[in-house]
Amino acid sequence: MIGLNEFKIIKDSLPLGVSLLAVSKGHQKDSIRQLYAYGQLDFGESRLQEAIPKKNDLNDLKHIRWHFVGTLQKNKVRGVVKEFDFIHSVDSVPLLERISRISKEEQKKPNIFLQVKFRDDPKKGGFLKQDLLESWPKIISLNNINLIGLMAIPPISLNSYQRKDLFFECRKFANHLGLQECSMGMSNDWKEAIEAGATWIRLGSLLFGKRQTI
Ligand SMILES: *Cc1c(COP(=O)(O)O)cnc(C)c1O
Repeated sequence: MIGLNEFKIIKDSLPLGVSLLAVSKGHQKDSIRQLYAYGQLDFGESRLQEAIPKKNDLNDLKHIRWHFVGTLQKNKVRGVVKEFDFIHSVDSVPLLERISRISKEEQKKPNIFLQVKFRDDPKKGGFLKQDLLESWPKIISLNNINLIGLMAIPPISLNSYQRKDLFFECRKFANHLGLQECSMGMSNDWKEAIEAGATWIRLGSLLFGKRQTI
């Protein structure tokens, strides 16, 4: 777990307009409490079943905001809409339509990032650029969602230069679509992501240490 001074150094290094998401999946609620005490308000989880008990335990932390960053299965949409303020990982139109419909029923309006797959990666989901462009009229017609940006995860095989290229491509595509936010950059590439125009970096192990399984 990171100390207060190291945390401050990271925070102070972030340019204006770049927000820090602390990805707490695989970490205990006490670590979340600790980081909250440092002033961190945004936390990310990738599994609903893991997030719910943590959230319940931490509901005294009044200003905390929860972000869903994991693969979203359609049977989990209602739970995720109820429990999370931001969803970083929407990767299909049917999923987005479902989020829109359920958000209306639940009287919610989640902040949405569309995950885009800029390179082939059998391990990861995401829209292909072309498909996203073709679906764009449909996407922007949906209600009860607040579409704020794109999210990208580079394949692990890329080196630091190739990652930065991908991040630049994500920034450019978001600009083209008129979206402000780019959720990109993790513990091993957040500096490259910021140079390319990230507005949300998602840090897990750099803040919390090695992940445990919960
Ligand atoms: C786990 C995870 C992170 C954090 O990864 P680290 O390498 O530990 O910083 C960021 N984004 C997503 C989508 C994740 O699943």
